[in-house]
Amino acid sequence: MENMEGIKSFLAVPRDICITSHRNPDGDAIGSSLGLALFLTKQGHTVKVTMPSEYPVFFSWMPQIDSIIIYDTDVEHSKKALEDADLIFALDYNSLDRIDKMGEYIHGLNKKIALIDHHLLPDINAEFALSDTTASSTSELIYLFISYLGGVDQIDKDIAECLYTGIVTDTGSFKYSTSARVFRIVGNLLDKGVDDYTLQNLIYNSLPEKNLRLLGHCLINRMEIFPEYRAGIIWLTKEDYETFDIKRGDTEGIVNYLLMIGNVVFATFITEQPNIVKLSFRSKGDFSVQEIARKHFKGGGHKNASGGSSFKGLKATLYKLKSLLPQYKEALNN
Ligand code: 5GP
Ligand code: MN
Repeated sequence: MENMEGIKSFLAVPRDICITSHRNPDGDAIGSSLGLALFLTKQGHTVKVTMPSEYPVFFSWMPQIDSIIIYDTDVEHSKKALEDADLIFALDYNSLDRIDKMGEYIHGLNKKIALIDHHLLPDINAEFALSDTTASSTSELIYLFISYLGGVDQIDKDIAECLYTGIVTDTGSFKYSTSARVFRIVGNLLDKGVDDYTLQNLIYNSLPEKNLRLLGHCLINRMEIFPEYRAGIIWLTKEDYETFDIKRGDTEGIVNYLLMIGNVVFATFITEQPNIVKLSFRSKGDFSVQEIARKHFKGGGHKNASGGSSFKGLKATLYKLKSLLPQYKEALNN
């Protein structure tokens, strides 16, 4: 970590701390934030957690999740938590653009920031930074951060459950971005009392029926495969959102089904939101979706998992993406 000694001495006395993570928080955003919050609270700090938007219901079981202040629905308390802080943690995002209005607000406050993140191209002016793009997840980095602070003994079952959730979701249940280091960390978390079977059931086997119907609809009616480009696209329209009563988190994981096709190395999931079209990219192997997201869709992320957006409408966005395929033909067939 850059300036590890600095943050260690900064945290040697009780502080007011505000932990932030990104819009549409996923398991890693929530797990890393709550895990760090629980740890720092144990160390005697006063800690608040705030995020731009709501979390999916299938994370409702997580320790202390009710304490998260949502900027969209409670601006006043979110701003107050940020204003009161001696230090703001930025977890699991690499640029203040990723948190919209909350980012503008943080920018204006001019506070000390500690960045802990695993995305490519970090772009936050941070006093303290732990940015490691080889890490599976920000939750893995929180474990390392706690160990740098000499606090591994302080990790209890609740903290371990939070960090486990971040790791299991960001690795797709230990399928990608894994390393000997992360398996060792997960072993340590199990030693702290994590019941991995129960947690995976809570996260992955708790869907309402409508989600499986939606998946069926995607695979039968909304999937297009381009064998010569080894690419696949699934899209959802505004009407689909109404028909299937799609809520936050309901489309999680759908993009990954495309990569189950042997010949597909580049997968895109496109959704028509009220004011914006969102794109989720995934790839297998060396093909970088980060470049596609950054160059063509104002986004970014990781080599094999990125996202972006477009204001052009669904049809035009689909057309733009398909038109890009020929220029990537060689890279896709490598
Ligand atoms: P997802 O497809 O799961 O929403 O996101 C995949 C990855 O891409 C995540 O690591 C996320 O942080 C990143 N990502 C998603 N959308 C955007 C975006 O609009 N801009 C940037 N810079 N990154 C994004
Ligand atoms: Mn992450």
